[in-house]
Amino acid sequence: MKIDIVTLFPEFADAFFSHSIISRARQAGYLTLGTVNPRDFTDNKFRHVDDTPYGGGNGMLLQAEPIFKAVESVLPQKTPDARVILLSPTGSPFTQKKASELTRYEHLVLVCGHYEGIDARVEDHLVDESISIGDYVLTGGELPAFIVADAVARLLPGVLGTHASAFDESFIEGTLEYPQYTKPAEFRGYKVPEILLSGHHANIARWRRKQSLLRTRERRPDLWRKLVLSDTDRKLLAEEDT
Ligand code: SAM
Repeated sequence: MKIDIVTLFPEFADAFFSHSIISRARQAGYLTLGTVNPRDFTDNKFRHVDDTPYGGGNGMLLQAEPIFKAVESVLPQKTPDARVILLSPTGSPFTQKKASELTRYEHLVLVCGHYEGIDARVEDHLVDESISIGDYVLTGGELPAFIVADAVARLLPGVLGTHASAFDESFIEGTLEYPQYTKPAEFRGYKVPEILLSGHHANIARWRRKQSLLRTRERRPDLWRKLVLSDTDRKLLAEEDT
């Protein structure tokens, strides 16, 4: 997959591009990452890319033209295997399901806003969709773009390698992950739950499922409401609730 990030701050992406799993995925050829700066597509002397909003109001907006040209420089023609995405607090919420859906494209172009945002013609006529990473407002779209790129990239075949699985995790089955522990078995008097040391795989699986359900019920009522419980799930919860 190729991911291009349209940003006024390409150097901001360097740290994201050049560490850990993402860096290794690039080196191994699973992922190509690039940046494109809208300032390279202005013809004014000061490379300005922003202006005041029509109708008045605070702050500055990114202009449409440099954003259109920046996107067109990496995607001259729209194709079915490419997706252009605007990062915006007004977009649809980003979820694990959305990350998974995006893996079917070969090319993602992630457009980062800044200042008060972007001329609405970008959303209306350039991008395929707008994504929000949560109900809060950040100063720019770079962190949201890295979040989307990271969540998608780790689902691509080969990226996580053989040591990690992207399938036995929070949100995949509509629940949060159970608590996990590593060595030592006791740390400052805090013990790992006995069952995890038992070697009894079926009991461990039951314990994990129960913890997953309890966590989801307690922490995420929104996920809990959508969860379809099996008979075994009900029994596990009944054990806890009695
Ligand atoms: N005036 C905008 C509003 O009220 O919706 C906020 C603009 S924000 C200060 C500047 C840029 O940061 C946005 O254009 C967007 O690219 C990015 N951004 C901020 N919060 C975001 C979020 N929760 N999800 C995705 N992008 C976000």
